[in-house]
Amino acid sequence: MVSNVPQRILLINDEPQLQGRLEEYCAQFRGGPWILTCTTDAAKGLSLLQSGRFLVCLLDFQLDGGKGEELLRTAGGNDCPTPVIFLLNDAHEEAIEAAMEAGAMDYLVKEDITVRMVEHAIRYARKLGDTMSRLRLLATHDALTGLYNRREFERIIAEECLRSTRFGHTFSLVLADIDHFKKVNDTHGHQIGDLVLKHVASLLGGQTRQVDRVCRFGGEEIAIIMVETPRKDAVDVTERLFALLAETPCLVPDKDLTLPVTLSAGVVALPDDASSVEGLVAAADEALYKAKHAGRNRVVTGSGQGKHKFVR
Ligand code: GH3
Ligand code: MG
Ligand code: MG
Repeated sequence: MVSNVPQRILLINDEPQLQGRLEEYCAQFRGGPWILTCTTDAAKGLSLLQSGRFLVCLLDFQLDGGKGEELLRTAGGNDCPTPVIFLLNDAHEEAIEAAMEAGAMDYLVKEDITVRMVEHAIRYARKLGDTMSRLRLLATHDALTGLYNRREFERIIAEECLRSTRFGHTFSLVLADIDHFKKVNDTHGHQIGDLVLKHVASLLGGQTRQVDRVCRFGGEEIAIIMVETPRKDAVDVTERLFALLAETPCLVPDKDLTLPVTLSAGVVALPDDASSVEGLVAAADEALYKAKHAGRNRVVTGSGQGKHKFVR
C-alpha cells in the first residue's frame, strides 16, 4: 500500500558535495516522499541515531577523520535502533570488515554509488533492521507474558551487579511467586492458568518504573530488578503492588469467573544480602521460601548476610 507519510533518512557526513548528491538521489527514490536530514556533527548525529525517528542512517565511515565507526559502536552497534549503512571512501577489505563488524547493515563506496544502488541499499537495510529487531524481541522476551525471559534476566542482573559494585549503588531483587497456582490449573484448566499469569504480568509490568526490569523467572515466578533502590524501598513498592493485585482479581468474562490472586515474595538487595549474582538469587529464593512457609501472600526480606560493603 502506498502511503504519504514521509520516510525519514538520516545522513551523517561532513562532505557538502556528497550531501548535495544524496539530496538529489532522495528526490528520485520511489515510494516516497523521502526526507533527508543531514548533520555534520558527530554528537548531534549520535542523538539522532538513538532517537529511533529515522528509517535508515547513511553514516560516513571517515567522518571527522574516522569517527564513524566509533559513533555506531556508541549508538549500540547491532542494537542501534536505526539501521546504518556506512559510506566508505574505497572498497578496501579492511574498511569493509571494520564497517560490518561495528554493526552496519550494509556499506556503499562513495565513488560508485548510483541512485538505484542507494535506494536498494536503504530498502535492504530497513528490512534487515526490522528482522533483527523482531529476532531480538523473540530472544529476550517471554512469549506468554511479554515480560523479559530468563536469559535476559541473567544478562540484566549480571550487568546491574557490575554497575552496582563499580559505582556503589544499591539495587534490589524481588522474587515473587503466585500462591497455590497449581490449584488454578487443576480447577479451571491450563488456559485459565495462562490468563492468570498474563494478568499478574501485566499488572506488575504496568505498575513499575520504566527502569525496573520485570522478568519471567520460571513457571509462575516473576523477578523484578529494581535499579538504584534500597531494600526498604523495594519492600514498599512490592507491598503496594500486592495491595493493588488484591483489589484487582483476574476476570474471565466468558466463563463468568472472578479469580483472586495473591503472591509471595522475597526481597533482597546488593550488597546488604549478598555480594554476587548467584548469592543474591539464592538469598531471594530463601526469603521467598520463608514467605511461603509463613502463610503466603506476604513479603519477606533477606537476612542481611551480605558483606555490607562494595567489592571494587
Ligand atoms: P505455592 O503457593 O507453594 O507456590 O503453590 P503453587 O501451586 O503455586 O506451586 P507449585 O510449584 O506446586 O505449582 C506451580 C504450577 O505452575 C505448576 C505448573 O504446572 C504451573 N505452571 C508453570 N508454568 C505455567 C504456565 O506457563 N501456564 C500455566 N497454566 N501453568 C503453569
Ligand atoms: Mg506458586
Ligand atoms: Mg513456583
